[in-house]
Amino acid sequence: MRRRKPPAGAVAKAPEGLPSPLLENWAWQDQAACAEVDPELFFAAESERGLRKHAREVLAKALCRTCPVRRECAEHALIVGEAYGVWGGTTEEEREPALHGRHR
Ligand code: SF4
Repeated sequence: MRRRKPPAGAVAKAPEGLPSPLLENWAWQDQAACAEVDPELFFAAESERGLRKHAREVLAKALCRTCPVRRECAEHALIVGEAYGVWGGTTEEEREPALHGRHR
């Protein structure tokens, strides 16, 4: 799966608290274990609930446990406040307390 990446040549300064869009700050994505995986494994369909959602997240998190850039991915999710999907082996529900506390 390719995560969001800034366009080539992007050099603008990011707002405080957000990572710079310089390409080297996103280089970790090139080593992602999910680089060639369907993004649907990491993001819930609108109607997805309960056991189906849990089963998908278990599979996504299992792949994350094998990922060489898990720490970078998890840090990114917290820094930019990723509110949806599995990032760095964490679900949105697992990140929510940290994200919620950050905005108080
Ligand atoms: S930790 Fe998981 S979501 Fe993040 S890059 Fe690796 S496999 Fe993808």
